[in-house]
Amino acid sequence: MNSPLQTEHLWMPFTANRQFKAHPRLLDKAEGMFYQSTDGRQILDGTAGLWCVNAGHNHPKIVAAIQQQAATLDFAPTFQMGHPLAFKAASKLAEMAPAGLNRVFFCNDGSEGVDTALKIALAYHRIRGDAGRYRLIGRERGYHGVGFGGISVGGIAGNRKQFGPALSGVDHLPHPLDISRNAFSKGLPPHGAELAAVLEQRLLALHDPTTVAAVIVEPVQGSTGVIVPPQGYLQTLRAICDKYGILLIFDEVITGFGRLGKPFGADYFGVIPDMIICAKGLTNAAVPMGAVIVTESIYDAFMHAAPTDAIELFHGYTYSAHPLACAAAIATLEVYQEEKLFERAAQSAPYFEAAAHQLRELPNVKDIRNLGMVCGIELMPQSGKTTTRAYDIFEKCFWEKNVLIRTTGDIIALSPPLIINEAQIDQLFAQISEAIREQAETK
Ligand code: PMP
Repeated sequence: MNSPLQTEHLWMPFTANRQFKAHPRLLDKAEGMFYQSTDGRQILDGTAGLWCVNAGHNHPKIVAAIQQQAATLDFAPTFQMGHPLAFKAASKLAEMAPAGLNRVFFCNDGSEGVDTALKIALAYHRIRGDAGRYRLIGRERGYHGVGFGGISVGGIAGNRKQFGPALSGVDHLPHPLDISRNAFSKGLPPHGAELAAVLEQRLLALHDPTTVAAVIVEPVQGSTGVIVPPQGYLQTLRAICDKYGILLIFDEVITGFGRLGKPFGADYFGVIPDMIICAKGLTNAAVPMGAVIVTESIYDAFMHAAPTDAIELFHGYTYSAHPLACAAAIATLEVYQEEKLFERAAQSAPYFEAAAHQLRELPNVKDIRNLGMVCGIELMPQSGKTTTRAYDIFEKCFWEKNVLIRTTGDIIALSPPLIINEAQIDQLFAQISEAIREQAETK
């Protein structure tokens, strides 16, 4: 007999620990589209773990690559030393990245990727004699991980208020979610591109534009409830950044690796930033890894600014390009290509969109928004006599409907593995519909 699980020692991240420990939701196996819960149920994964298991769980090729690497080279020192897989993984990633972005700095996750990109942006201007560019501009409701840089440019009050003022010299653009004009729009919302022009207004009215180093945005804001950019919005941001010599950083931790049916959101939108941050799907989440992909000209600026025997960037991690992560990344990127998973996502997206929008008539549904294989369903917590809390739907889905969804505030966010088929899409939305309907009836 298994001894009862001791839960008191683990301090869980972004979790109501006491509530969770009273009734823990535990997973102990996974394969393909499904998790298995510790009480033996098969749970359909509507969230690709945490937006990361794009190729489906425990892919045999990725598992084998990690196993083989673990038995071959466990670790090699990272500073002033290297191992061939690091170079191979970087080349593979550069090949997949949009043209012009072809130099790769590895780290261990999205948060490190964000801090790495912000530091590269600041250092880039300094080494070119433009040290007056110190400001960073993010967006309201942006999520850029939990490093000090990330919570500073991020636009979520809850992630900062416990920690004091964080970085100075940071400003935020308004987020572009406008349910009053764009409710239930499919794909790119028609209204709101003018919100990108706020960047230029702020530059001129509040900040000397020559003091701004970088603007950082998620092409689609994920963690705060799937905020899809209005048509033309990202193009406007790019044009303003170009006009004032400001670097544009795309945080593609969620939108990277096929979520929008293309390798990166940059490809989908046809807007090429100066840096892309990626993580999650880079290794199909089997080993932690993140990366910052920069343009040749950013890399060259560093190479030319220092003598050949000098360190060009004073930044790095013990586990940058860890051998197991590199093995996982190479195998994962090959799986994406061999199984044409990005094309598959593009093909599934219209079916996924139609299935999602069928929930429109359910009680307490305020908005549905989607792009590629990501979708947000925003609930009205209080409507007439009924109360529908997204968290209650999440619990019901997990315990009674055997589907895993994610909620953030009043919003259900869905981002299934890209291998999901039509029957599973039907199952996912049918179970969520039932949960929403039942929840409304019980109140
Ligand atoms: N950026 C974005 C856009 C993210 O969605 C996330 C994680 N959800 C991060 C950064 C942080 O990544 P990590 O949790 O791997 O540090």
